[in-house]
Amino acid sequence: MEVAVIGAGVSGLATARALKSSGHRIVVLEKLHQLGGTWLFDPRVESDPLGLDPTREIVHGSLYNSLRTNLPRQLMGFSDYPFPETENGYSGDHFPSHGEVLKFLNDFAADFGLFELIRFDSEVVRVEQVNDRWLIESICSNLKSEETFDAVVVCNGHHTQPRVATLPEKWPGKQMHSHNYRVPEPFEDKIVVVIGEGPSAIDISRDICDVAREVHLSSRSPNVKVSKLVFRSNMWQHSEIDYVKENGEVVFRDGALVRADIILHCTGYKYSFPFLKTDGIVSLENNRIGPLYKHIFPPKLAPSLSFVGLPYQTVVFLHIDLQAKWVSCVLSGLKLLPSKEEMLAEVEEHYRQMEAKGIPQHHTHCLQLKFEYLEWLATQVGLEGVCERAKLISSSYFKFAAENGLWKAKDWKPGNGIKESLLCVD
Ligand code: FAD
Repeated sequence: MEVAVIGAGVSGLATARALKSSGHRIVVLEKLHQLGGTWLFDPRVESDPLGLDPTREIVHGSLYNSLRTNLPRQLMGFSDYPFPETENGYSGDHFPSHGEVLKFLNDFAADFGLFELIRFDSEVVRVEQVNDRWLIESICSNLKSEETFDAVVVCNGHHTQPRVATLPEKWPGKQMHSHNYRVPEPFEDKIVVVIGEGPSAIDISRDICDVAREVHLSSRSPNVKVSKLVFRSNMWQHSEIDYVKENGEVVFRDGALVRADIILHCTGYKYSFPFLKTDGIVSLENNRIGPLYKHIFPPKLAPSLSFVGLPYQTVVFLHIDLQAKWVSCVLSGLKLLPSKEEMLAEVEEHYRQMEAKGIPQHHTHCLQLKFEYLEWLATQVGLEGVCERAKLISSSYFKFAAENGLWKAKDWKPGNGIKESLLCVD
C-alpha cells in the first residue's frame, strides 16, 4: 500500500520501520527539519507562555534542558532494538539524558534506512478521505501540495498543546506552562507556585529551587501530605489552590498563603489534530479521541486511518513499537480486524467500564501503568516474551516509585529483586 505517516517522532519512526519491513511504500511527512519530535530539544519558547493565544507560533518541543527520562533505560527501547545499557560505552546514568534518547532515535532511523523515507520541513495541513483515497495537503517552503494515499497513520504527538489549570479569580503575576520551561535562570530570587504532581512538576521544582527564593508545590491529589519538604530549605508541598488575590497572594486549601511572582502550570497536554477532516466520524472531546478501537482504528474508517502513540502513563516506546507492528500487520492483511459493529461495541464497552469505575472521560487514553493492553498487542504481533520482560522490569521500577515517591524514583537501580539477565531485552 501507499501509506502516509504524519510525524517523525518515536511513533512515526516505529511505524515507518514496521511498514517498510512489510513492503509498503511510505512517505513520512515531518514539519520540522530533523527527526525525534519531543526528543529534539528546542531552546525556543512561545510568545504566550501559557499557550492560550491561538495566533501564536507553535513550538513543538516541551523538553527542558536538564531532562533525564522518567523511565529507566531498560524501558526506553523497542521490542527488538533495545536502548543502550551504557552511555558511550561506560556505565552511565540509569535515566538517559534527552540527548541520548535523540541519538538512539537517529541510530534507529539510520539502521533501518528510514531517513530516505522522511520528507522534512513538510507540514501536513489537511487530511481528508476523497473517493476511498486519503488526500493529504502539505506545505513545504511556502508551497502547498496535494497527494493521495491508500492509508494514513497519524503520529503527530500530544505534548505540544498545554492544558492549564483554571484559577478561580484574576491574578496579576506571571503565569506559564511547563511547555515553555527550558532553564531555571529566569526564576532567580522568585517565589514560584508549581501546580502539578507528575514528573515534570517534580523535575522542574528540583531544577528551579537552586535559584528561586521559594518553591511552593500545589497538588489536588487528596493523598498529598502538606508539609515543608525536608530535603530542601526553600520548598513546600501544599494542597490545591483555594483562591488567588489581585495583590498577588495565592491561598491554598490547607490555609497557607504566599505572595507569589510566578505560577507554573505543570498540568499536562491536550490532543490536537487540526489537519484531520472526518466529518465528525472521529471526534475529539474532553481529551477523548473517539471512537477508536484499541486506541488506534476509528471503526468506520479502519484500517485506512489509524493513530499510533496516543496512550500515556505507560512504557511508551514499547507500546508504540507494538502498536506500529500491529497496524502494519493489519494493513498487510496478516491480521483481520473485527467488523465495524464489533469494534464500535468494544469501544462502547470500554467507555461503559470507565464510567462504572468513575474514571473521567479525559483519561480515556491513560493506561494507568497497567499491562493488559500491552499484553494484548504483544499477542497480536507474536511477541509475548518481550511483554513479560518489560512487565518484570516495570513492576520493579513502578513498585519502587510508588513506595518511595516520584522524588526518589530516579534512585531506582536495576536488579531490585529481579534477575540481571532479564534486564536485557534481546
Ligand atoms: P512526538 O515526539 O511529539 O513526535 C510527533 C512528530 O510529529 C514531531 O516530529 C512533529 O514535528 C510532527 N508533526 C506534528 N504535527 C505535524 C504536522 N501537521 N505535519 C507534519 N509533522 C507533524 N516518554 C518516555 O517513554 N520516557 C520519558 O522519560 C518521557 N519523558 C517525557 C518528558 C516530557 C517533558 C514530555 C513532553 C514527554 C515525555 N515522554 C516520555 C513522552 C514522549 O512524548 C514520548 O516518549 C514520545 O516522544 C512520543 O512520540 P510521538 O512520535 O508520538 O510524538
